[in-house]
Amino acid sequence: MKSLGYAAHDKTSPLVPYTFERREPRPSDVVVEIDFCGICHSDIHQVRDEWGGSLYPMVPGHEIVGRVTAIGSAVTRFKLGDLAGVGVLVDSCRTCANCKAGMEPYCERGMVGTYNARDYNGDMAFGGYANNIVCDERYTHTISPKLNLAAVAPLLCAGITTYSPLRHWNVGPNKKVGVVGLGGLGHMGLKFAHSFGAHVVQFTTSESKIADAKNLGADEVVISKDTAAMAKHKGTFDFILDCVSAPHDINAYLSLLRLDGTMCLVGLPDQPVSISPFSIITNRRSFAGSMIGGMPETQEMLDYCAEKNIVSEIELTSIDKLNEAYERVLKSDVKYRFVIDMSSLKA
Ligand code: NAP
Ligand code: ZN
Ligand code: ZN
Repeated sequence: MKSLGYAAHDKTSPLVPYTFERREPRPSDVVVEIDFCGICHSDIHQVRDEWGGSLYPMVPGHEIVGRVTAIGSAVTRFKLGDLAGVGVLVDSCRTCANCKAGMEPYCERGMVGTYNARDYNGDMAFGGYANNIVCDERYTHTISPKLNLAAVAPLLCAGITTYSPLRHWNVGPNKKVGVVGLGGLGHMGLKFAHSFGAHVVQFTTSESKIADAKNLGADEVVISKDTAAMAKHKGTFDFILDCVSAPHDINAYLSLLRLDGTMCLVGLPDQPVSISPFSIITNRRSFAGSMIGGMPETQEMLDYCAEKNIVSEIELTSIDKLNEAYERVLKSDVKYRFVIDMSSLKA
């Protein structure tokens, strides 16, 4: 199948239009014509090879929503014209204990990423900055028509990546929860933690985001550079979700956890993290990580969002403005997720 998208050809050049081939749909595949695709900071890390091992040409994009335009003969969950979403992975072994438990990101064979990856046949996987995608229905999600479709797109990565750890660590009423960084992930973490009934403190480096954080559900906002404001919260948090994309001091947040509190990293800066042993020995604290979320939980999150009317705060952009959008993400200057209107690709 012919596809048109935007690709990076190396780690320093801007993304440019690119035509490529996708596989012919297999019996269990759906073909999705893409209406919108979010811009995740992981796209930028990978385009610029900040984690190492990037594969080019790279068509990024893993916050994909659109309409089903073709289905294979064995497809049961979709029909032509249905809304559909594809997130960060498009395949996994399906047979290991983690896959069977619906924990596909932790597949023992290694999941197949939506882009910057090779599938199990060795073919390159291309992502959602494109007019279409072919995906097995097991890795495709149903989308409610109730919500603004463009604002649903970021749920496929930013949404599930924050929903999953907040659920896993039982965030809810009578819990004091911190969210670090008010970006694409952070603002979804804030919305979910608030929706689950926790007392939420948003940490930010950006004074310009204080009012927004309160409107999005923060009970308190702390400017993380203000050491006196940070010290007031020492030893009080049950859970902290760190959504920051760049290196920063983890110990400053660990010291805010109460007895048996947990800090979970979802942000993926390109440098190792330094932790003082005293930061975790004190108060028997845990330092953890979490990666996206499994297929059943992703569908659960999408259904929860439809029920509670939760979507991402977005700035719609056209695909020719992609490289400028990247620069603004790097300056933490997006409120709070860029989403590409894919009709601009046809234009
Ligand atoms: P983003 O929209 O750029 O948000 C990152 C936020 O971090 C910024 O808005 C900013 O918030 C804060 N920040 C940026 N630079 C900082 C610095 N030098 N010091 C302190 N704070 C800083 O990025 P995103 O799309 O939410 O992604 C966040 C991270 O999560 C990325 O590293 C991404 O690769 C990773 N990620 C991980 C998973 C997973 O499965 N674990 C999934 C998706 C993404 P303030 O302005 O409020 O300070
Ligand atoms: Zn992402
Ligand atoms: Zn597996």
